[in-house]
Amino acid sequence: MARIIDAPLTHGESGGCDPRAVHGSWGALNAAAQRGLAYTPAARTKTDALYERVKHVVPAIEWPAYAPLIAAINEMKHEKNAVILAHNYMTSEIFHCVGDFRGDSLQLAREAAATDASIIVQAGVHFMAETSKCLAPEKTVLIPDLRAGCSLAASITGADVRLIKARYPGVPVVTYVNTSAEVKAESDVCCTSSNAAAVVEWAARAWNSERVILLPDEFLAKNVAAQTGIKIIAWHGRCEVHERFSVEDIAEMRAAHPGLVVLAHPECPPDVMAAADFAGSTAALQDYVVEKRPAKVVLLTECSMSDNVAAAAPDVDFIRPCNLCPHMKHITLEGIYDALKYMQHEVTIPEDIRVRAKHAIDAMLALPKERPRAFATGRPEAAVELV
Ligand code: SF4
Repeated sequence: MARIIDAPLTHGESGGCDPRAVHGSWGALNAAAQRGLAYTPAARTKTDALYERVKHVVPAIEWPAYAPLIAAINEMKHEKNAVILAHNYMTSEIFHCVGDFRGDSLQLAREAAATDASIIVQAGVHFMAETSKCLAPEKTVLIPDLRAGCSLAASITGADVRLIKARYPGVPVVTYVNTSAEVKAESDVCCTSSNAAAVVEWAARAWNSERVILLPDEFLAKNVAAQTGIKIIAWHGRCEVHERFSVEDIAEMRAAHPGLVVLAHPECPPDVMAAADFAGSTAALQDYVVEKRPAKVVLLTECSMSDNVAAAAPDVDFIRPCNLCPHMKHITLEGIYDALKYMQHEVTIPEDIRVRAKHAIDAMLALPKERPRAFATGRPEAAVELV
């Protein structure tokens, strides 16, 4: 069975955590009771098989709190022809037990475009729900909690991008999917951490340009510049989760856990990427663990990822660095239940913005589908031009 070992970081700002403890099983128990739901024999029968998926990471004593909500959500999905798109950073009872499609932003965007369901519930943050709405305008897209934002998406506006374009005419604009629809609408093509290097290389070729504007994540831009050698014009946005990791954290974890394999997400600072053993998107990190089965691993990314990968790799020990995304953790089972029951918080986008944003997303989706590309580690930091 996988072991999850919390590793509070002394150099970053995070503390030890259990991602479910942010809201907690007691919260879910109260939430279920308030909605007239209980762990009845019928609820147990409907959810016993689901518990098998998460028993490595959800204690048995907590399951009666989650199971009634899970059973009710899965019934409502069926009745209403709804699907739930669950991001890798969701807690395990959401990710594995009510999520119909699971993965990173790129995987979820592809599913949103392809699904026959008439309702999409986005178990993720607001920009992801907007991406789903851009690609599936005829569907009702719901976000369970309007507070589920993102520090990267909040770092830049459409007006900022217009100013950047005016300053660098003719330079292609590649925008990370972690942005609002109005920012995507000002862009030529989107990218995710899975394909950022490939999209930047493609944009440089397609525009016959030595330079590419890559917005808004400063660290992703530096890490892509180190991979591609292309001159990058960047913005000063940062992910408040990944920017906290440091090389000192890595050194401490390696000292405490000999043989540890360190995996980093490309939203981490460049020196952290250089000190890792492997780096890539959330999908690439998951593939690495499932295929290579390191005895002991740490994923330098959002805390819940470790739990969700642990369910698929029960023989691997996970050192969990406990950096939670507060925005992702606004999404709870009861929030999903209420969204479906009351059809609440529908995501809408002005049509002219939606069409232009879809154009940038489609440009990305039209590129050849390839495996999530790993980032080489050990490289020196590359200079970028910060706007
Ligand atoms: S983990 Fe970072 S990039 Fe992802 S939603 Fe949270 S703040 Fe945004």
